Amino acid sequence: MARIIDGNAVSKEIREDLKKRVAKLQELQNITPGLAVILVGENPASQSYVRAKHRACKNIGIRTKDFNFPSDISEAEILNLVDTLNNDPEIHGILVQLPLSAHIDEQKVLLKIHPDKDVDGFHPQSIGKLVIGLDTFFPCTPFGIIKLLEHTGISPEGKHVCVVGRSNIVGKPIANLLMQKEKHANATVTVCHSRTPDIKNFTLQADIVIAAIGKPEFITADMVKEGAVVIDVGINRIDDPEKEKGYRLVGDVDFDNVSKIASAITPVPGGVGPMTITMLMYNTILSAERAHY
Ligand code: NDP
Repeated sequence: MARIIDGNAVSKEIREDLKKRVAKLQELQNITPGLAVILVGENPASQSYVRAKHRACKNIGIRTKDFNFPSDISEAEILNLVDTLNNDPEIHGILVQLPLSAHIDEQKVLLKIHPDKDVDGFHPQSIGKLVIGLDTFFPCTPFGIIKLLEHTGISPEGKHVCVVGRSNIVGKPIANLLMQKEKHANATVTVCHSRTPDIKNFTLQADIVIAAIGKPEFITADMVKEGAVVIDVGINRIDDPEKEKGYRLVGDVDFDNVSKIASAITPVPGGVGPMTITMLMYNTILSAERAHY
């Protein structure tokens, strides 16, 4: 039976350290790290992510500033707001909760965020720096996966990692991070996607499988090599009339069966999810430190 990689426990460890860094900023510079959160519309999943981010920030001592808009807000208003926040010295990070409304060009909004406040790490400048190995903000979910491996003593160095999914926010950045010439990386990386024939052929060769697909329980036990490490990024709601909310969350991995052959696996929930929020706070504090030390 696989060892469970507990994202809540690792998050807690990192958050304790972050609290100390916030206290130091306050003591030495009289600075409270500030995060602006922009939410458009009433997508329940987005609202729930934003609530979780607020709770976590409050607990650590990060000040949050909320900007909630109806779905018909104009693109120009959002762009103006981002501009104002770029110039607000009390704001160290700007978070635009995606998705935005269909009439708003997401890339245009993300490009408007000053790279020094790009705590989500989605700006092309941040991604470009990541690819060539320069210091920058790493996107929170891939950064969370790196920290999760690091804290659980699983080194990707010299290993074959198969990433399934090539999105700009998970698949591409985690693949790039893991191939860097760094202690936390040095992996041989394969990236699969919807046009990859016979994905199993690749996942079966991998020492570490990272699933970021968005398809419930897509990675089944016959696709995983015995003893492999499995990181499940997926968060999928599936109907479950027995649950009070009418649904439950499952990952992109068939946890019950894959955990019988993997050596270590992340659960959903409680694996990568908490790490994503933790690394958002990490980046916000890092941004405040860069601005004031
Ligand atoms: P996207 O939908 O942006 O990307 C999904 C990727 O999976 C694409 O590259 C797509 O390929 C690939 N894919 C889809 N179907 C298949 C298939 N049948 N076979 C092989 N590849 C396939 O998703 P995200 O990367 O944003 O998110 C992935 C999952 O992770 C989601 O469940 C999301 O909710 C979750 N997530 C969780 C986070 C966390 O904090 N734990 C944070 C962010 C996301 P192609 O490019 O060819 O279309």
